[in-house]
Amino acid sequence: MRKPLTSAPLPGGYGRGTSRRGFSAANSNTRISPSGAAAPRAPQAAAVSTIANLGLNSERSRGMMIQRLREQGIRDERVLGAMLQVPRHGFVDQGLASRAYEDAALPIGHGQTISQPWVVARMISAVTENRAPLKVLEVGAGCGYQAAVLAQFIKEVHCIERVRGLYELARQNLRALRLISRVRLSYGDGTLGLPGVAPFDAIIVAAAGIKIPQALLEQLAVGARLIAPEGAAAQRLVLVERTGPASWQREELEAVRFVPLRAGIQA
Ligand code: SAH
Repeated sequence: MRKPLTSAPLPGGYGRGTSRRGFSAANSNTRISPSGAAAPRAPQAAAVSTIANLGLNSERSRGMMIQRLREQGIRDERVLGAMLQVPRHGFVDQGLASRAYEDAALPIGHGQTISQPWVVARMISAVTENRAPLKVLEVGAGCGYQAAVLAQFIKEVHCIERVRGLYELARQNLRALRLISRVRLSYGDGTLGLPGVAPFDAIIVAAAGIKIPQALLEQLAVGARLIAPEGAAAQRLVLVERTGPASWQREELEAVRFVPLRAGIQA
């Protein structure tokens, strides 16, 4: 596997806190259970032996995934409905497709992962709660799964990905689902946001930095919310609401483990 390039750290330290002890892409973008152990894995969804079968069984497997998310406290019907629609198995390597509906993060190449379904549901629910956002930014598109979920009920989804190979993979996956016209994908450094498109009604950051980039906080509309994993070895989801032109309120949520947020781009 190609080692991701390291890039110059921003003043805030991005790119530095990325060589973490015990970091492994395979168990990243997941929730950590309060005991500190990895969240228990649900039993494998449907017993699917071949990809051909998967097409037939995937709807049932997705239904089981949604049921599990409900049991894990996800309540927003827009999010659950969207995740029921999006074929997650189309966003992972064929060899992993039979595991696509487990509550697990899976490798997508370039040392990155597709986020655990619970993480996707939790992050989207937190920023859209009691709101109907029209324009949303996702930092860290990866293979495009979360963007596809967002595009099911949000009019304008903007995504940034810093690894060219993944940007291209996301483009290909979203095109296959005919979602490319609803998701505006950029290849670039998401720590800078998209100042020309801001303000956003919600921002989701799918990779962990030491601190949430100020540029992203500035690109939130007043009253809008941002969610991001924050921290180095110990990370938490942090939910920030912009309460005024120069005021933000933050709340720490669950302990998680995410791939690192890195400055710069990777060709
Ligand atoms: N949203 C994805 C999760 C992808 S993992 C999903 O749907 O499952 C996080 C992604 O963030 C990786 O692809 C990584 O390359 C990307 N990333 C990390 N730092 C970034 C940055 N500064 N700008 C844009 N993308 C970044």
